[in-house]
Amino acid sequence: MIPSYAYQDIAYLIGSVSFVVGLKMMGQPDSARKGNLVAAFGMAVAVFAALFLNAQGFHIINNFPYIVAAIFLATVIGTMMAKKVQMTAMPEMVSLFNGMGGLSAALIAVIEFHHKTAEASGMSADGMITEFSMPVGVYLAIVSGLIIGTISFAGSVIAWGKLNGKIGDYRMPQQQIINAVVLAAIIALAVAHYGAINSGDFSMSYFYGIIGLAVVYGLIFVFPIGGADMPVVISLLNSFTGVAAATGGFLYHNKVMLMGGVLVGSAGTILTVVMCKAMNRSLLNVLIGMAGGGSGGSSSNSSGGSVREVQATDVAIMMKYASKVIIVPGYGLAVAQAQHVCHELENLLEEEGVDVKYAIHPVAGRMPGHMNVLLAESNVAYDKLVEMEHINSEFATTDVVLVVGANDVVNPAAKTDPDSPIYGMPILEVDQAKQIVVLKRSMKAGYAGVDNDLFYNPKCGMLFGDAKASITKLVNEVKAL
Ligand code: NDP
Repeated sequence: MIPSYAYQDIAYLIGSVSFVVGLKMMGQPDSARKGNLVAAFGMAVAVFAALFLNAQGFHIINNFPYIVAAIFLATVIGTMMAKKVQMTAMPEMVSLFNGMGGLSAALIAVIEFHHKTAEASGMSADGMITEFSMPVGVYLAIVSGLIIGTISFAGSVIAWGKLNGKIGDYRMPQQQIINAVVLAAIIALAVAHYGAINSGDFSMSYFYGIIGLAVVYGLIFVFPIGGADMPVVISLLNSFTGVAAATGGFLYHNKVMLMGGVLVGSAGTILTVVMCKAMNRSLLNVLIGMAGGGSGGSSSNSSGGSVREVQATDVAIMMKYASKVIIVPGYGLAVAQAQHVCHELENLLEEEGVDVKYAIHPVAGRMPGHMNVLLAESNVAYDKLVEMEHINSEFATTDVVLVVGANDVVNPAAKTDPDSPIYGMPILEVDQAKQIVVLKRSMKAGYAGVDNDLFYNPKCGMLFGDAKASITKLVNEVKAL
């Protein structure tokens, strides 16, 4: 017989284990959906336990009607947003949700600060008390939740604006120094605040100062990051929110919240490191705001060549009589929702004896794993998706590379132009192949806003049009041959 005082701990244990199992399952595309459901189940159990159980057994939490009303509203809004959002706008939504997580963690810090100080006895009317000392661990949990949560909120809002194109890149002169000064001022204010609390001064001015500076830091930290470096920032902000949530778990002695926060924080940190490696950036440079930026937006090509336009019939012949074809998917594949017809083309070519593979760049699209998710949705076999470091050596023996709505991830400027904002980023070396065909609608630049000399390469043909329409034409042409 389980004693009633253990109900909540058991429920929290089930929640924590579900998070770990769910996260593990999300590591593989074929189990990712189920992993998401397992983690959601864990969260439902944790919420139930927080609302209805405590150390005495069954107990309904204080302010129950307000909490239920908030959950109801958030469920309606969240469901509507999730149903409405286009796959290509998912990263923006994730950024916004991440910002909300940061804001919640910051609000928890504000409320807990009030709680802890109100617990102090003998407070006088002017907010000064005589005998009170806040343990440094408790203050650290409160202030780090406040600072990290606020930075994550402000930064995520800017990231949201950048991802949907409403906000551009803004870089101040001496940007790194300004960032470092603001960060140092936040830390100095927090130290001064701790000293003030322990000498009985509970006034909120330090607290508001910290919030204001953390907002400023969040803004100036993300504003200058541009070019192709947004994936690093997004995963970094995500890990910030995890850490901020973990401090909330610490303050409330809530093990499942602590565990969830630590998992998000550590998973986000690992992803940040992976992204930094993929972009060939150092984490320190990203942290102090040195990564990315640059002017971008050049519209003339440096090679002085001209663009060769090709027709679907010619491309279909090239591919049908090739022995090896590599498809390079990019953001445009997601915009056009061309993944299903792309899989159909792959099947047709395979039936003709052509060896077909997909080359996956780690930051292709607008979120980590974007291309894997899209192609998995259209049932492309996982062993056909080959990561950049493995496929690059195969381009030299490839007859045709079909670039579907990818741009930055195949831009040779990343290797050749030190002034380019994407300089240093490893790319898919498609120019090694015998023939290159690029499917896009115009000569417009990709996310980083830079012109692409690949399109002027004599081996490269441009098949203009929406990717789905172009691939549908290719499918029909291959069938007709
Ligand atoms: P890019 O954004 O560089 O290029 C996409 C290309 O797709 C555009 O040039 C566009 O050209 C074309 N396109 C758009 N719609 C269509 C359509 N319907 N049919 C055909 N083509 C279309 O994409 P990449 O995948 O090459 O690179 C991703 C970029 O996004 C990188 O810079 C990366 O750093 C950044 N990023 C990645 C994130 C991630 O986590 N993966 C997050 C945030 C940013 P046109 O308009 O002429 O059709």
